[in-house]
Amino acid sequence: MNWLPDFIGHGAIKACYFIAALLFILGLKRMSSPRTARGGIVWAGYGMLLAVLATFFLPDMHNRGLIVAAVLIGVSAAWWTGRRVAMTAMPQMVALYNGMGGGAAAAIGAVELIGYARGLGMLHAVPDTSPLRPEAWAVNALPPALSPVELTLGVLGALIGAVSFSGSLVAFAKLQGWMDRRFVFAGQRAVNMLLLAAAVVAGFMLVLGQASLPLILVFFALALLFGLMMTLPIGGADMPVVISLYNAFTGLAVSFEGFVLGNEAMIIAGMVVGAAGTLLTQLMAKAMNRSIGNVLFGSFGAAGGEAQAITGAQKPIDGADAAVMMAYAERVVIVPGYGLAVAQAQHKVWEFAQLLIKRGVKVKFAIHPVAGRMPGHMNVLLAEAGVPYDLIADMDDINPEFATTDVALVIGANDVVNPLAKTDPASPIYGMPILDVSNAKQVIVIKRGRGTGFAGIENALFYADNTRMLYGDGQAAVGELVTALKDVDG
Ligand code: NDP
Repeated sequence: MNWLPDFIGHGAIKACYFIAALLFILGLKRMSSPRTARGGIVWAGYGMLLAVLATFFLPDMHNRGLIVAAVLIGVSAAWWTGRRVAMTAMPQMVALYNGMGGGAAAAIGAVELIGYARGLGMLHAVPDTSPLRPEAWAVNALPPALSPVELTLGVLGALIGAVSFSGSLVAFAKLQGWMDRRFVFAGQRAVNMLLLAAAVVAGFMLVLGQASLPLILVFFALALLFGLMMTLPIGGADMPVVISLYNAFTGLAVSFEGFVLGNEAMIIAGMVVGAAGTLLTQLMAKAMNRSIGNVLFGSFGAAGGEAQAITGAQKPIDGADAAVMMAYAERVVIVPGYGLAVAQAQHKVWEFAQLLIKRGVKVKFAIHPVAGRMPGHMNVLLAEAGVPYDLIADMDDINPEFATTDVALVIGANDVVNPLAKTDPASPIYGMPILDVSNAKQVIVIKRGRGTGFAGIENALFYADNTRMLYGDGQAAVGELVTALKDVDG
């Protein structure tokens, strides 16, 4: 059923896709600064809404009832979970939604391939008049014929989408704490390579006209299994890179399937996500001093061997003494980490920093690229508290300054300040660049107890001679510092 006369419909839909593409790109541009990021998300959201609405009016669109039902279920689930999710659980939510995108792209690929195989007469027609019959979907969703290029892109999109789907689900389960962080066995790399090679061979056979239902099933089973197996051994500090890589995969898969369906909105949205995800992956990998191949197939976190022994003891300090130490310091660098997010201590920390600044202390905030649980996590929290951008320094800029810093105040950070990343080749985080907090004259660490960080390992910094531990919840401990600092004579 055509909802609009063809001559209006076609032009109007293309115009809507064009506007949607502009909104995606401008929205992404706005996301590059914390000041405009919120607006960027809204712009991109309007773009997506417009693209989805326009798609409904495509002349060859069928099964609109089913699509509306699917959209309603998806929107309700996303709305409900999106409103409830804690900021600290954002990475697993991103992993889950990203997986859904990859799965959707793979599903489109599956429908295309089934339809293509039917066209080759290699599948039996199912004599069923139900709107749910598989071949009805395939026929309706398919362009009349697939060119070799479209077929190749369709198979590639299905492969990448399926890998992203199962891989993202494993990443979700790990971040949610439902699965062991790492799962390794001897010969894992060879098994993974074999799985990938087998999936690629099956894909080739599909492209070369061997499409049959069993081969399609084998192809998808191999791709899904590869995504699963590739993600199982990855853990420790590599998780952020992997999540962002799967994000890029999903974008690419959607874009390839967009080519096959001839849908410009899918092509552009997929390209934008793919390009942004690829750049983010490169930035994260660079920040971790790792190559992408090394993250996927290397042995980061699997170094093995005897872990370096940590000597000494953790030395506690109380809030009043810590406040005095900083009140009379010339330079203080504040290092926030995941615990700051858990404690929601950002407002108290900024209040404390302002009191120090009023006393003439030079205060800076140091941000590690993977502090927290998502890229930019700390920047978002500090921006929310109103910390001016010129007080926030990146790792490369601040590291040389620690040697002239009187007090480094670490709040809920652990892995990103762990000197073992530099000194212990057996450590799971060996090679990850860190904030050189231990070079400061004095270090004060706020955390609740002896809990480990994301990588699950001890931290040599907490035992260093120049480190004092201020135990307590981040917000309460900084509250203590604020009260104590107000009592210190000007
Ligand atoms: P970590 O996860 O290493 O350490 C957080 C520390 O905060 C813990 O040791 C914990 O100790 C403390 N803490 C927890 N709750 C509180 C609280 N309420 N008050 C005070 N302290 C608290 O954090 P980092 O930011 O240093 O490192 C991030 C890690 O997460 C890295 O390993 C990174 O690779 C990984 N990661 C990063 C992602 C990203 O994109 N940024 C995504 C996924 C993983 P205690 O229990 O004793 O309080």
